[in-house]
Amino acid sequence: MSDIHEIITLDGPSGAGKSTIAKLTAKKLSFKYLDTGAMYRAVTLYMIKHNINTDNNDEVISALNNLNISFDNAGRIYLDNEDVTEEIRSSEVVNLVSKVSSISAVRQNMVSLQRKIAEGGNYVVDGRDIGSIVFPNAKYKFYMDASLDERARRRYNEELSKGKTLTYEEVRESIRKRDEFDSNRKDSPLVVPNNAYIIDTTSMTIDEVAEKITNVVLNKQSN
Ligand code: C5P
Repeated sequence: MSDIHEIITLDGPSGAGKSTIAKLTAKKLSFKYLDTGAMYRAVTLYMIKHNINTDNNDEVISALNNLNISFDNAGRIYLDNEDVTEEIRSSEVVNLVSKVSSISAVRQNMVSLQRKIAEGGNYVVDGRDIGSIVFPNAKYKFYMDASLDERARRRYNEELSKGKTLTYEEVRESIRKRDEFDSNRKDSPLVVPNNAYIIDTTSMTIDEVAEKITNVVLNKQSN
């Protein structure tokens, strides 16, 4: 591999398995991993904790100037030096995150932080606009999808294993709504980026998808 840092982008709707697959792929290729969804969740948590009126742009901008998001080497996320890795998965955050992430000032702030972090090394970066907006010139771009039912089933099982008590229908509806919002917002909607390699993961295992991505990357690297 050359000295120039390489970026692998991984976009797709909620529950397509992006973060698990991104982590596994990063491990296989000895890349680092950046979870941009966690960053939007952390901003949302900040807005909730500080009672920010997200309809008031001035309040949002001043909140953005004050908040401090960072990751440690194990990928845990910190908001103002407090570990919020678990808290950002709460349903309170999930219910508001699409709205907060549709605010242009929030996106500009996060995109510049994402570029700053990922330009410091070889990174697998997952999200909704990574191959289209954040790193449009990345050498390796992937878009992962799966049927809504399959994505809901995976997310439901994940919630169950954490002891949460949502029904399958509630999980399915929450994913459906979030996708609709993320795909239809004005600023950086979820799209298939130009030149992205599309993988339908509906009937694939996590290992199969990570293997597929790794092979595409290794093949390109050797060409
Ligand atoms: O990937 P995850 O489900 O953690 O993302 C949470 C939310 O953050 C998404 O529903 C979307 O609204 C927002 N997001 C985004 N752009 C990204 C990553 C996430 O707008 N690059």
